[in-house]
Amino acid sequence: MIDVVSFLPAKRKQTSSGWISFNAPCCIHRGDTQDKRQRGGIKPSPDGSWSYHCFNCGYTASFVLGRNLTFKARKLLEWLNVPTEEIERINLESLKHKSIEGLLGERQEVIQRLQSIEFEDRDLPAETQELNELAKEYLQKRCVSLDYPFLYKTMPRRGVVIPFTHNNQVVGHTTRFLDDRTPRYIQDIQSGYVFGTDLQKSNWQTAIVVEGVFDALSINGLAVLHAEINDAQVRLIRSLGREVVVVPDQDEAGMKLVDRAVELGWSVSMPDWPAGVKDVNDAVIQLGRLGTLLTIMQSRETSKIKIELRKKQLVKRLRT
Ligand SMILES: [Zn+2]
Repeated sequence: MIDVVSFLPAKRKQTSSGWISFNAPCCIHRGDTQDKRQRGGIKPSPDGSWSYHCFNCGYTASFVLGRNLTFKARKLLEWLNVPTEEIERINLESLKHKSIEGLLGERQEVIQRLQSIEFEDRDLPAETQELNELAKEYLQKRCVSLDYPFLYKTMPRRGVVIPFTHNNQVVGHTTRFLDDRTPRYIQDIQSGYVFGTDLQKSNWQTAIVVEGVFDALSINGLAVLHAEINDAQVRLIRSLGREVVVVPDQDEAGMKLVDRAVELGWSVSMPDWPAGVKDVNDAVIQLGRLGTLLTIMQSRETSKIKIELRKKQLVKRLRT
């Protein structure tokens, strides 16, 4: 058993949401001032896996039982004064569980498929907080589950931070600002990244590909994060081995996604949604999650001719 808590400073406290907070050891190693407000947080899972986030300097690291310690997780343990031999012992102990990783969850198959594609670990923004009521209200209004590890920040503007994960490691993020000024989002995204792979379950046959992060969050879909799908994203999506249905935004830009989907031989769904609904997230807000998934499945087309016809119809409607 790997008990990360035993390596933490004696001065620490547990929050109701499962975080253990203590003075962050990372900041001084990263040119930031020493944390004295217990802004380091670690969230352990029952199996010994954990994720760390510094609410002060933004450093993130995580450990998944059955996998090698990542570079950032090793650094964190060093900064916590864990001796090198002990770090190696943790790594070996973890690898002993390699075969059972995933048997613990329903994501085994997805985890294995994702392991072939790697992204660099990234930090989250500095100076974040747990979600406050304003942010929670915003997310509830957009019909996304508060189970996702969102964060909140106030500088330079108030916004919800949405970590981008791949195989449960943080590899980027986007911030959705809560005032409606532009830009509405800022992103730290790596080329070829697809959001939402960690939302997929092993027994799912279909992957629904959408444009935006909120579209993906509201139906557990995959988001390509713009109105195009680059070749690296195609490889990642194909590696999941699912039937793919692309659901474009119903606007001019979204129609580019339709052409790309046809080129790739993927299905396309352009449901006849109520007036004013232009993307999956709008649809979920109006029709609910199940209702939206039904409209997507019912309107799914594989025939190139039928897709072109439906696109023409939509374009015509957009221009009137
Ligand atoms: Zn820090």
